[in-house]
Amino acid sequence: MDALVVGGGVVGLSAAYALSDRDVNVTLVEKGSLGNASTARSAGGIRSQFSTRVNVELSLASKEVWNSFEERFGVDIGLRKNGYLFLARSEATAERFRENVEMQRELGAESELLTPAEATEHCPGLDPEPFVAATYNPDDGIADPNLAVQGYAEAARERGVEIRTKTAVTDLHREGDRVVGADLREVGAERSERVEVDRVVNAAGAWAAAIGEMAGVDLPIAPRRRQIAVVDPTPPVPESVPLTIDLETGSYFRPERDGVALVGGHFDGDDDPDQDPDAYDEGMDVEWAARAVENAAEYTEYFGLDTRIQRGWAGLYAVTPDHHPVVEETIPGLVTVAGFSGHGFQHAPASGRIAADLVVDGETDLLDVSPLAGDRFERGDTLTERSVA
Ligand SMILES: Cc1cc2nc3c(=O)[nH]c(=O)nc-3n(C[C@H](O)[C@H](O)[C@H](O)COP(=O)(O)OP(=O)(O)OC[C@H]3O[C@@H](n4cnc5c(N)ncnc54)[C@H](O)[C@@H]3O)c2cc1C
Repeated sequence: MDALVVGGGVVGLSAAYALSDRDVNVTLVEKGSLGNASTARSAGGIRSQFSTRVNVELSLASKEVWNSFEERFGVDIGLRKNGYLFLARSEATAERFRENVEMQRELGAESELLTPAEATEHCPGLDPEPFVAATYNPDDGIADPNLAVQGYAEAARERGVEIRTKTAVTDLHREGDRVVGADLREVGAERSERVEVDRVVNAAGAWAAAIGEMAGVDLPIAPRRRQIAVVDPTPPVPESVPLTIDLETGSYFRPERDGVALVGGHFDGDDDPDQDPDAYDEGMDVEWAARAVENAAEYTEYFGLDTRIQRGWAGLYAVTPDHHPVVEETIPGLVTVAGFSGHGFQHAPASGRIAADLVVDGETDLLDVSPLAGDRFERGDTLTERSVA
């Protein structure tokens, strides 16, 4: 069987790697360089604390790979298990925290419910006063997405995957309702070349809807710009502090090495509905960064007046209406694995394996992906993930 993976971000590479284990001839095409789109702009967070079963299951299956990445791939991805700390300001959110922790624990996660005072044991600079509850999971953490890309790419190449960078898919071909081939064009080439394939995997992230359109299918996946600021906090955030999220304001931060911290959050609901993934502002807005720091200062002591904003960047979330990905065989021959919102780095190991299962077997036994079918929006069967920033 011949498979073409579209997209050389962490999801496409994970899928290509998993396919190479299944006796499939795999070509991966990436229109730029490997991992240079959303993957390189991620905060690198890995957590089991989600509010839907399917997201928790994707996390737990993925963590198995992240935890043993160096043994499997020979690359140290800088995994640091500082935990994630979620904070609730209202009773309604605290009630959801209780339900989430129960569900997460039932599925095997180590999450626990804390009082705000207990939360200060993990985040000593936290002001517990505005909060009524917290959740914490010591097994959550961060890793370096660029190193994960390197590990997957090297392993995939070693197993015979042909990786073609600076090569874009420009069209997909169908015979009846089945996708049977693609047009590829290398940067600078005068013409596209046509390839016949048995399966195409759409792992094009923020561009996934455009790939779907080439095959005549509508995917409800849209690019949304999100930003991160790198700051010198005063006083510094200790390196042991978890990635801390004030869920109701959307503000989050985490320590980096050498006293630096990353600060993020999306504070206005005013996303540009027509964001062009090929022409968005990749720089950080200074006013946004000032607000992100101000918001983090409101509930911690770390971002005092002498805090300096060093730099920052913007990247794209690939967002669906319910913040869960589309993972399915959309039409015969076309497997979609995209729309991961702010969770696609951490869910890449499980998602790649599932994509390979769908290509080869038409189904997966890793976990129940039926909630992630793309027609859930028409059926009115959407999911609700509230633990997002
Ligand atoms: C600011 C920010 C913070 C984030 N923080 C986190 C976090 O803490 N944890 C987490 O898990 N996730 C996080 N994310 C989300 C995460 O970055 C993404 O979900 C993940 O990187 C998606 O990977 P991907 O491979 O699907 O997409 P991408 O990395 O975008 O890869 C898709 C690739 O497809 C290629 N492509 C597109 N069209 C074509 C074509 N026609 N032909 C060939 N190639 C094509 C693109 O060039 C691109 O390289 C964050 C994202 C942002 C923006």
